[in-house]
Formats: sequence, structure tokens, C-alpha cells
Amino acid sequence: MTPARNTITTVKTVAALRARVQNWRAAGETVALVPTMGALHEGHLSLIRRAKELAGRVVVSVFVNPTQFGPDEDLDAYPRDQEGDRAKIASAGGDAVYMPDVAEMYPEGFQTVIDVPEVAKGLCGDARPGHFRGVATVVTKLLMQAQPDVAVFGEKDYQQLMVIKRLVRDLDIPVQIVGAPVVREPDGLAMSSRNAYLSADERGRATQIYRSLSAAAREIAAGTPARGLCARVRDELSDVGFGRIDYLEVRDAETLERIDGQVTRPARIFAAAFLGKTRLIDNVPIDPA
Ligand code: AMP
Repeated sequence: MTPARNTITTVKTVAALRARVQNWRAAGETVALVPTMGALHEGHLSLIRRAKELAGRVVVSVFVNPTQFGPDEDLDAYPRDQEGDRAKIASAGGDAVYMPDVAEMYPEGFQTVIDVPEVAKGLCGDARPGHFRGVATVVTKLLMQAQPDVAVFGEKDYQQLMVIKRLVRDLDIPVQIVGAPVVREPDGLAMSSRNAYLSADERGRATQIYRSLSAAAREIAAGTPARGLCARVRDELSDVGFGRIDYLEVRDAETLERIDGQVTRPARIFAAAFLGKTRLIDNVPIDPA
């Protein structure tokens, strides 16, 4: 019988991860890292496939990082499915899973933080104080632990991607950071582990985010000033039952500087809004002709 392709190495410690990676390097292979918090879906799997195009071996980390959750956020409720994740990682071409526990990542006495204050201003940085400090710190640790040639992150979390690019440049970490496009459900909703929280009714309404953002992005690309369209999208979301809207803004795709007027360079329209208790984020590129 042909052995199933879902046997995959799982490592739980920094030492075991390093040993695994060193073996590959000794054999002349390149290594990619895909950091995740698990509960994997097609969006994550697209990153693993992209990583496999960029390097010979792919390590996927699965770690629900407590330091990037605020005190009133969903750390305890966050979906976890280690066995399912291992099978999905194997099927997407991952070579090893790194699943450290919290004590391995943050041993007694841990105190160092990585802060990228300017990139982390606005958008999710304002709505979730301390979030990007937690992300930047854990991603820096993962990069130092695995020492990959390349690491792949989704544009779904676009500000996060920019925070990571900045810290890698600032700290001279020898890794290439690659962004990958947002993977969506057939009706346009951006895939997210948090979509599992939505009721059937909310799931139906949730598609409005992408519908509104992509229509606005087209009009902005054609020359309509950003501010009025952001106001329209806010109204459209409220009309279908979204509650708190944390932000609805157009920002420069490189600098994340806010744009209210006409868009003349690559930009993105960003939204974060609550449907019931679930906070959904999305963003869509704006490419002026
Ligand atoms: P998370 O598990 O939510 O921390 O996400 C792990 C990585 O997967 C991050 O780089 C995310 O940006 C990326 N990701 C999550 N959802 C998607 C998606 N729908 N499309 C592309 N990348 C995604």
C-alpha cells in the first residue's frame, strides 16, 4: 500500500525545530516559513502552496499567540484543530509543523518586545491596542527560531504584512517577506478562521463587505475621491446590519498613509466591522489607471 501523504513531522520545541531545519540546510535545501494561528482554511493553504514554490522545504507554525489578543478579545474561544491542521498542511505540501506551547514561546522571565510604532498606527493598530506589538514580537521570534530563507504572509492582514516587512528591514533579519493575495469564498467573503463564529443569518449578510469594498475600489480607481465612497460603504454596511465599524478608509499601498481625495498611486480600501460579536476585516486593492 502507498503510504498516506499526511504523515508530517511535528516539532514542539525551538531545539527540535532548529535540528529539523539544520538537517535540511545540510542537504542543501532552502526553507520557507508560514506562520499561522491554526484552524486552517484555503487562505492558509494558499500560503503553504506559495511557500512551496519559493523554497524546497516548508515549515508551518501553528501557535495561537496570547500576546496579540486584547483582554476582551476571543483568545479562549479562538478555534483550535491540531489534528485537522496537520492533515491540511501535509496535503498542501508542508514538510513540518511547528506547534510550540505557550511556555516554550514565552518562558518564565520573558520580557522583550518588538514595536513598529508608525506602521502600527491607525487601522487595526488603533482598534486593537497592543495587537501589533504582540504580532511583531512573536513573528520576530518565529523568524529567529526557524531562520527561514523566505516567509509568506497573507494580504488579508495587510497592515500586519507591512509591520513585518518594516521590522525585517529595521532589524536586518536575513529573510525575504512575501505577500500573497486574499483568498475568498465563492460569494466574495474573505476566508477567516473567525468566519466560524458567524450564524447562518450573519454569514449571509457578511458578503456585503466585499461587495461594497470592490465596487468602491473600482469607482475610486476611476477617479472618484475616496472620502465620499468610504462614507457610502459605511452606510451600506450599517444598512445590512453591521454594528460597530472600527474603520473604513483608503490608504497608500506602500506607506499606509491615509488618502481622502483622488487616488493617483496604488492604494487599498480597508474595513473592519462587527457583525454581531464577530469582527471581520477585509481590504481590496485600488489600481488607478
Ligand atoms: P492567522 O491564522 O489568522 O494568523 O493567519 C495566518 C496567515 O494566513 C496570515 O499571514 C494571514 O494574513 C493569512 N491569511 C488568513 N486568511 C487569509 C485569506 N483569506 N487569504 C490569504 N491569506 C490569509
